[in-house]
Amino acid sequence: MNGIVDFQRVTKRYAQTTVLEDLTLTIAPQAVTGIVGESGSGKSTLLQLVNGLIRPDDGKVLVFGEPLPSQELAGFRRRVGYAVQGTGLFPHLRVADNIALVAKLAKWTDSDIESRITELMRFMNLEPALRTRYPHELSGGQQQRVGICRAMFLRPEILLLDEPFSGVDPLMKRDIHERLIALLAAEPATVVLVTHDIAEAKRLTQELVILNGGRIVQSGSIADIERQPANDRVALLLETGNAL
Ligand code: ADP
Ligand code: MG
Repeated sequence: MNGIVDFQRVTKRYAQTTVLEDLTLTIAPQAVTGIVGESGSGKSTLLQLVNGLIRPDDGKVLVFGEPLPSQELAGFRRRVGYAVQGTGLFPHLRVADNIALVAKLAKWTDSDIESRITELMRFMNLEPALRTRYPHELSGGQQQRVGICRAMFLRPEILLLDEPFSGVDPLMKRDIHERLIALLAAEPATVVLVTHDIAEAKRLTQELVILNGGRIVQSGSIADIERQPANDRVALLLETGNAL
Protein backbone atom coordinates (compact mmCIF):
# COMPACT_ATOMS: atom_id res chain seq x y z
CA MET A 1 0.00 0.00 0.00
CA ASN A 2 2.27 2.75 -1.20
CA GLY A 3 0.57 3.93 -4.29
CA ILE A 4 -0.50 7.47 -4.94
CA VAL A 5 -4.03 6.05 -5.19
CA ASP A 6 -5.14 3.08 -3.11
CA PHE A 7 -8.49 1.35 -3.25
CA GLN A 8 -9.05 -0.90 -0.26
CA ARG A 9 -11.96 -3.30 -0.68
CA VAL A 10 -14.06 -0.62 -2.33
CA THR A 11 -17.71 -1.26 -3.17
CA LYS A 12 -19.94 1.24 -4.95
CA ARG A 13 -23.67 0.70 -5.52
CA TYR A 14 -26.45 2.59 -7.23
CA ALA A 15 -29.80 1.42 -5.88
CA GLN A 16 -29.89 -2.32 -6.66
CA THR A 17 -26.82 -2.27 -8.90
CA THR A 18 -23.38 -3.02 -7.54
CA VAL A 19 -21.09 -1.09 -9.87
CA LEU A 20 -17.76 -1.85 -8.22
CA GLU A 21 -17.37 -4.78 -5.89
CA ASP A 22 -14.68 -5.33 -3.30
CA LEU A 23 -12.07 -3.63 -5.42
CA THR A 24 -8.50 -3.49 -4.16
CA LEU A 25 -6.06 -1.62 -6.32
CA THR A 26 -2.85 0.36 -6.04
CA ILE A 27 -1.93 2.90 -8.67
CA ALA A 28 1.82 3.41 -9.04
CA PRO A 29 3.03 7.00 -8.92
CA GLN A 30 4.48 8.68 -12.03
CA ALA A 31 3.18 6.03 -14.41
CA VAL A 32 0.29 5.88 -16.83
CA THR A 33 -2.20 3.23 -15.73
CA GLY A 34 -4.88 2.20 -18.20
CA ILE A 35 -8.34 1.09 -17.10
CA VAL A 36 -10.00 -1.05 -19.73
CA GLY A 37 -13.21 -3.05 -19.79
CA GLU A 38 -16.49 -3.22 -21.59
CA SER A 39 -19.10 -0.51 -21.35
CA GLY A 40 -20.75 -0.49 -17.94
CA SER A 41 -17.91 -2.30 -16.21
CA GLY A 42 -17.35 0.57 -13.77
CA LYS A 43 -14.43 2.44 -15.33
CA SER A 44 -15.86 5.95 -15.02
CA THR A 45 -17.11 5.18 -11.53
CA LEU A 46 -13.58 4.21 -10.54
CA LEU A 47 -12.20 7.56 -11.74
CA GLN A 48 -14.93 9.53 -9.99
CA LEU A 49 -14.03 7.84 -6.72
CA VAL A 50 -10.47 9.13 -7.09
CA ASN A 51 -11.45 12.79 -7.34
CA GLY A 52 -14.30 12.62 -4.86
CA LEU A 53 -17.16 13.18 -7.28
CA ILE A 54 -18.64 10.12 -5.61
CA ARG A 55 -17.87 8.22 -2.40
CA PRO A 56 -17.59 4.48 -1.81
CA ASP A 57 -20.35 2.62 0.03
CA ASP A 58 -17.81 0.26 1.55
CA GLY A 59 -14.07 0.24 1.79
CA LYS A 60 -11.58 3.07 1.54
CA VAL A 61 -10.14 5.25 -1.17
CA LEU A 62 -6.80 6.80 -0.28
CA VAL A 63 -5.27 9.48 -2.48
CA PHE A 64 -1.84 10.94 -1.69
CA GLY A 65 -1.81 8.40 1.16
CA GLU A 66 -4.86 9.85 2.89
CA PRO A 67 -8.63 9.57 2.77
CA LEU A 68 -10.20 12.28 0.65
CA PRO A 69 -11.18 15.38 2.61
CA SER A 70 -14.82 15.10 3.69
CA GLN A 71 -15.47 18.68 2.66
CA GLU A 72 -13.57 21.55 1.06
CA LEU A 73 -12.53 19.48 -1.91
CA ALA A 74 -11.34 22.54 -3.85
CA GLY A 75 -7.75 22.37 -2.62
CA PHE A 76 -7.61 18.63 -3.21
CA ARG A 77 -9.05 18.96 -6.71
CA ARG A 78 -6.32 21.39 -7.73
CA ARG A 79 -3.93 18.47 -7.38
CA VAL A 80 -6.09 16.17 -9.52
CA GLY A 81 -6.72 17.04 -13.18
CA TYR A 82 -9.75 15.53 -14.88
CA ALA A 83 -10.74 15.37 -18.54
CA VAL A 84 -13.85 13.64 -19.82
CA GLN A 85 -14.71 12.77 -23.37
CA GLY A 86 -17.14 15.09 -25.09
CA THR A 87 -18.88 16.73 -22.19
CA GLY A 88 -15.98 18.58 -20.61
CA LEU A 89 -15.94 22.03 -22.22
CA PHE A 90 -18.27 24.91 -21.49
CA PRO A 91 -19.98 25.85 -24.77
CA HIS A 92 -20.37 29.54 -23.89
CA LEU A 93 -16.69 30.01 -22.99
CA ARG A 94 -13.92 30.65 -25.49
CA VAL A 95 -11.04 28.19 -25.74
CA ALA A 96 -8.68 30.30 -23.61
CA ASP A 97 -11.31 30.73 -20.89
CA ASN A 98 -12.11 27.04 -20.91
CA ILE A 99 -8.43 26.22 -20.50
CA ALA A 100 -7.94 28.73 -17.69
CA LEU A 101 -11.20 28.00 -15.89
CA VAL A 102 -9.52 26.60 -12.79
CA ALA A 103 -6.87 29.33 -12.69
CA LYS A 104 -9.25 32.04 -11.54
CA LEU A 105 -10.21 29.95 -8.54
CA ALA A 106 -6.56 29.31 -7.79
CA LYS A 107 -5.98 33.08 -7.95
CA TRP A 108 -3.33 33.14 -10.63
CA THR A 109 -2.29 36.51 -12.02
CA ASP A 110 -3.43 37.44 -15.53
CA SER A 111 0.07 37.32 -16.97
CA ASP A 112 0.76 33.88 -15.45
CA ILE A 113 -2.55 32.68 -16.86
CA GLU A 114 -1.72 34.04 -20.31
CA SER A 115 1.68 32.40 -20.47
CA ARG A 116 0.34 29.10 -19.18
CA ILE A 117 -2.39 29.06 -21.85
CA THR A 118 0.21 29.76 -24.53
CA GLU A 119 2.53 27.07 -23.21
CA LEU A 120 -0.16 24.40 -23.02
CA MET A 121 -1.66 25.21 -26.42
CA ARG A 122 1.79 24.90 -27.93
CA PHE A 123 2.31 21.53 -26.22
CA MET A 124 -0.99 20.22 -27.55
CA ASN A 125 -0.48 21.62 -31.05
CA LEU A 126 -3.32 24.14 -30.94
CA GLU A 127 -2.88 27.23 -33.11
CA PRO A 128 -2.84 30.49 -31.09
CA ALA A 129 -5.67 31.73 -33.34
CA LEU A 130 -7.96 29.15 -31.72
CA ARG A 131 -7.84 30.96 -28.37
CA THR A 132 -10.88 33.07 -29.12
CA ARG A 133 -13.02 30.37 -30.67
CA TYR A 134 -15.90 28.61 -29.00
CA PRO A 135 -15.79 24.83 -28.56
CA HIS A 136 -18.35 24.21 -31.33
CA GLU A 137 -16.00 26.01 -33.74
CA LEU A 138 -13.33 23.35 -33.16
CA SER A 139 -12.91 19.85 -34.53
CA GLY A 140 -13.49 16.94 -32.16
CA GLY A 141 -9.74 16.37 -31.90
CA GLN A 142 -9.11 20.03 -31.09
CA GLN A 143 -11.76 19.94 -28.38
CA GLN A 144 -10.08 16.94 -26.77
CA ARG A 145 -6.76 18.81 -26.82
CA VAL A 146 -8.37 21.77 -25.11
CA GLY A 147 -9.73 19.39 -22.48
CA ILE A 148 -6.20 18.12 -21.82
CA CYS A 149 -4.87 21.69 -21.56
CA ARG A 150 -7.48 22.53 -18.97
CA ALA A 151 -6.89 19.36 -16.97
CA MET A 152 -3.14 20.06 -16.91
CA PHE A 153 -3.45 23.77 -16.18
CA LEU A 154 -2.49 23.69 -12.51
CA ARG A 155 0.23 21.08 -13.05
CA PRO A 156 -1.72 18.38 -11.19
CA GLU A 157 0.04 15.50 -9.52
CA ILE A 158 -2.67 13.16 -10.76
CA LEU A 159 -4.33 13.34 -14.17
CA LEU A 160 -7.58 11.42 -14.68
CA LEU A 161 -8.60 10.87 -18.30
CA ASP A 162 -11.96 9.29 -19.08
CA GLU A 163 -11.91 8.12 -22.70
CA PRO A 164 -10.47 11.49 -23.67
CA PHE A 165 -9.71 10.60 -27.27
CA SER A 166 -12.64 8.47 -28.33
CA GLY A 167 -14.23 9.51 -31.58
CA VAL A 168 -10.96 10.97 -32.88
CA ASP A 169 -9.68 9.45 -36.10
CA PRO A 170 -6.60 7.22 -35.79
CA LEU A 171 -4.07 9.59 -37.40
CA MET A 172 -5.20 12.50 -35.29
CA LYS A 173 -5.17 10.26 -32.25
CA ARG A 174 -1.57 9.33 -32.87
CA ASP A 175 -0.59 12.99 -32.93
CA ILE A 176 -2.51 13.73 -29.72
CA HIS A 177 -0.83 10.75 -28.06
CA GLU A 178 2.60 12.04 -29.01
CA ARG A 179 1.76 15.50 -27.72
CA LEU A 180 0.49 14.11 -24.45
CA ILE A 181 3.59 11.97 -24.00
CA ALA A 182 5.76 15.06 -24.56
CA LEU A 183 3.70 17.12 -22.13
CA LEU A 184 3.96 14.42 -19.47
CA ALA A 185 7.70 14.16 -20.02
CA ALA A 186 7.97 17.88 -19.28
CA GLU A 187 5.40 17.88 -16.47
CA PRO A 188 5.33 14.43 -14.89
CA ALA A 189 2.08 13.26 -13.31
CA THR A 190 0.44 10.05 -12.29
CA VAL A 191 -2.07 9.31 -15.02
CA VAL A 192 -5.13 7.08 -14.86
CA LEU A 193 -6.51 6.63 -18.37
CA VAL A 194 -9.85 5.00 -19.06
CA THR A 195 -9.95 3.71 -22.61
CA HIS A 196 -11.55 1.01 -24.70
CA ASP A 197 -8.86 1.36 -27.34
CA ILE A 198 -6.26 -1.31 -26.68
CA ALA A 199 -3.83 0.20 -29.21
CA GLU A 200 -4.06 3.45 -27.28
CA ALA A 201 -3.45 1.60 -24.02
CA LYS A 202 -0.39 -0.07 -25.50
CA ARG A 203 0.97 3.24 -26.71
CA LEU A 204 0.35 5.28 -23.59
CA THR A 205 0.26 3.07 -20.54
CA GLN A 206 2.74 1.11 -18.51
CA GLU A 207 0.20 -0.61 -16.27
CA LEU A 208 -3.19 -2.01 -17.11
CA VAL A 209 -6.25 -2.79 -15.01
CA ILE A 210 -8.87 -4.91 -16.73
CA LEU A 211 -12.36 -4.55 -15.30
CA ASN A 212 -15.38 -6.70 -15.91
CA GLY A 213 -18.66 -6.36 -14.10
CA GLY A 214 -17.16 -4.12 -11.42
CA ARG A 215 -14.35 -6.49 -10.56
CA ILE A 216 -10.70 -6.60 -11.54
CA VAL A 217 -10.09 -9.44 -13.96
CA GLN A 218 -6.36 -8.80 -14.13
CA SER A 219 -3.86 -6.03 -13.49
CA GLY A 220 -0.16 -5.56 -14.16
CA SER A 221 2.17 -4.48 -16.91
CA ILE A 222 0.96 -5.06 -20.45
CA ALA A 223 3.94 -7.34 -21.07
CA ASP A 224 3.06 -9.49 -18.05
CA ILE A 225 -0.61 -9.66 -18.98
CA GLU A 226 0.27 -10.60 -22.56
CA ARG A 227 2.60 -13.29 -21.31
CA GLN A 228 0.07 -14.72 -18.87
CA PRO A 229 -3.47 -13.57 -19.59
CA ALA A 230 -5.93 -14.49 -16.84
CA ASN A 231 -8.31 -16.08 -19.35
CA ASP A 232 -9.09 -16.40 -23.04
CA ARG A 233 -11.06 -13.18 -23.16
CA VAL A 234 -8.16 -11.18 -21.78
CA ALA A 235 -5.88 -12.85 -24.32
CA LEU A 236 -8.29 -11.92 -27.09
CA LEU A 237 -8.59 -8.36 -25.83
CA LEU A 238 -4.82 -7.88 -25.87
CA GLU A 239 -4.42 -9.53 -29.27
CA THR A 240 -7.27 -8.00 -31.19
CA GLY A 241 -8.54 -5.10 -29.13
CA ASN A 242 -11.96 -6.72 -29.07
CA ALA A 243 -13.99 -5.94 -26.00
CA LEU A 244 -14.14 -8.43 -23.20
P1 ADP B 1 -18.12 2.47 -17.70
O1 ADP B 1 -17.44 3.79 -17.54
O2 ADP B 1 -17.19 1.30 -17.56
O3 ADP B 1 -18.91 2.37 -18.97
P2 ADP B 1 -19.70 3.35 -15.45
O4 ADP B 1 -18.76 3.42 -14.31
O5 ADP B 1 -20.09 4.60 -16.11
O6 ADP B 1 -19.16 2.29 -16.50
O7 ADP B 1 -21.05 2.66 -14.98
C1 ADP B 1 -21.07 1.37 -14.42
C2 ADP B 1 -22.51 1.00 -14.09
O8 ADP B 1 -23.01 1.90 -13.11
C3 ADP B 1 -23.45 1.11 -15.26
O9 ADP B 1 -24.33 0.02 -15.20
C4 ADP B 1 -24.16 2.39 -15.05
O10 ADP B 1 -25.45 2.34 -15.57
C5 ADP B 1 -24.20 2.52 -13.54
N1 ADP B 1 -24.17 3.92 -13.09
C6 ADP B 1 -23.15 4.78 -13.25
N2 ADP B 1 -23.41 5.99 -12.73
C7 ADP B 1 -24.65 5.90 -12.21
C8 ADP B 1 -25.53 6.81 -11.52
N3 ADP B 1 -25.15 8.06 -11.25
N4 ADP B 1 -26.73 6.35 -11.14
C9 ADP B 1 -27.11 5.09 -11.40
N5 ADP B 1 -26.35 4.19 -12.03
C10 ADP B 1 -25.14 4.57 -12.44
MG1 MG C 1 -17.40 5.41 -18.77
